Amino acid sequence: MKYISTRGDRTERGFSDILLEGLAPDGGLYLPTHYPKVDAATLQRWRGLTYAQLAFEILSLYIDDIPAADLRRLVDATYTEAVFGTPQITPLKPLEAGMQLQALSNGPTLAFKDMAMQLLGHLFEYELARRGEQLNILGATSGDTGSAAEYAMRGKQGVRVFMLSPHGRMSPFQQAQMFSLQDANIHNLAVEGVFDDCQDIVKAVSADLDFKRRHKIGTVNSINWARLLAQVVYYFAGYFQATRSNDEQVDFAVPSGNFGNICAGHVARSMGLPIRHLVLATNENNVLDEFFRTGTYRVRGSAETFETSSPSMDISKASNFERFVYDLLGRDGARTQALFGDAVARQGGFTLAPAEFARVAGFGFVSGSSSHADRLATIRDTFQRFGVMIDTHTADGLKVARAHCTPGVPMVVLETALPAKFAETIREALGVDPEPPAALRGIEDLPKRFTVVPPDAAVVQRYIETHTA
Ligand SMILES: *Cc1c(COP(=O)(O)O)cnc(C)c1O
Repeated sequence: MKYISTRGDRTERGFSDILLEGLAPDGGLYLPTHYPKVDAATLQRWRGLTYAQLAFEILSLYIDDIPAADLRRLVDATYTEAVFGTPQITPLKPLEAGMQLQALSNGPTLAFKDMAMQLLGHLFEYELARRGEQLNILGATSGDTGSAAEYAMRGKQGVRVFMLSPHGRMSPFQQAQMFSLQDANIHNLAVEGVFDDCQDIVKAVSADLDFKRRHKIGTVNSINWARLLAQVVYYFAGYFQATRSNDEQVDFAVPSGNFGNICAGHVARSMGLPIRHLVLATNENNVLDEFFRTGTYRVRGSAETFETSSPSMDISKASNFERFVYDLLGRDGARTQALFGDAVARQGGFTLAPAEFARVAGFGFVSGSSSHADRLATIRDTFQRFGVMIDTHTADGLKVARAHCTPGVPMVVLETALPAKFAETIREALGVDPEPPAALRGIEDLPKRFTVVPPDAAVVQRYIETHTA
């Protein structure tokens, strides 16, 4: 399998070449040259596999430059009961008839990003050792992504993580999760500023090409193809649990921000998994819901980007969305370049031609949005009727799922985080505190390891210099 860019550069690259990269050289995102079709006999065989076996089968279709025995070892080391809490890895939890949650957040940081990031940690360590190279990951986080990256990379050979976060602005639980890590290759830099200051520093350091090359600076952002690929697996795993035979269709509802999670669903559907609808749920930051209702994609400015109680979906633009639009447009790289390279950059968005927008239905997407009041009501209702406590992002998904449910078609709502991460809203909805999993109780009291720095890229560069020597 080879990979090409969404913006017209058809140079074919191997999986291992794009694994450690961000954007393609022409500014596009990498996609495989095609999606392998899974035939009925294969789907039947896969139904009986464990999660790790299934992951190996799916990854093998997209990775042909890592020997099979090595890939199997990496996958087996990733998807274990010890890391993800259950033998099924992503079990379903039934709610009302036809409705179930798929638990994706039983990994070390209690959010679905662990599903992909844990694999990425193993893949990075393997590929860096093979090349005899080192990588220094620089990132900015307001919570979820940074901690998932740190827990994936902790103790890995050849990788260091320098994670910037706004000093004193994360929840005590999130801070404790990141700052309690004692691994020598993990560096927490608490920036005296807000999240945007952290992001500006990452941009400034990455724009210093000489520094970037000398210190082997890389990222683990959500546009990484390997992350998306790892997420394809749980759509298959969810489908097999929700059905008895492969002629049944299933709907998936996905709380969405950067369009990474649901893009993996689009890939699974394109491979032939019998998904009827991909139900996209947004919070008040409804960039994507607007697109799927109207055909207009309009990036929001910071004044129009709301801070909500499902903060991991507070986006102004959806960084993975270009991948879907490229497929929607029949993989026309020039047209994708015109929309994302020109129109988004110059006018902050675009409106598809009616004939282009008409194709969306064929890809199974429907959408809706949810508000703070909806989240509270959904969390309350789900707790009262089923005794199940859900987090705010999953509540957005469930609220929109209920509006798009059809009798006879099972609906699987992806649970993207555990309620313990968002205690304040749970208290507001239910009047009680969510219990963190046993292993994380008392984490706030552990010793913390972090360095406070001013919002100054030069200071961060000096810190990296002295800690990579
Ligand atoms: C990242 C995240 C999302 C959004 O996922 P995308 O892949 O960006 O669409 C939703 N919920 C939680 C809890 C997250 O951490």
